[in-house]
Amino acid sequence: MINWYKFFMAGNATITIKNTKTGRHFTYNVKQSRWKDTWWVVLKQHQGPDLYIGSLTSKRFNITPKSVLGKNDVRWRGFNWVWWHLVYKRPLPEYVEIRHCNTCGRCGRELTRPDSIDRGYGPMCAELLGLSEFAIPH
Ligand SMILES: [Zn+2]
Repeated sequence: MINWYKFFMAGNATITIKNTKTGRHFTYNVKQSRWKDTWWVVLKQHQGPDLYIGSLTSKRFNITPKSVLGKNDVRWRGFNWVWWHLVYKRPLPEYVEIRHCNTCGRCGRELTRPDSIDRGYGPMCAELLGLSEFAIPH
């Protein structure tokens, strides 16, 4: 069992958070700054650039002038909510799942979608290997 608090703080962690109630999932990278007491949080998008969304300092997730998302954005609030639970050691409800990133067993690309992480291959590679549930049987 992973200690998620330690994992978030480890230095360069990529994390996917999934809400199984809504089916939504978001991927974040948490990187320690060179000042060591601050971590930068970046939202990783499947399409489009990574978005800097805030910093972790003294266990608090903060908006800074360069944050691209506001506190009302579900992608900011989702991270903040999970982080709060980890800091205060509150159990996460069963419908919230956290995964660390994985790389595709075929092409080595980073996997961030929960189903791809669990399968070990990206959607294209899974299909090429005949492992996708959507693949047409030969
Ligand atoms: Zn692949």
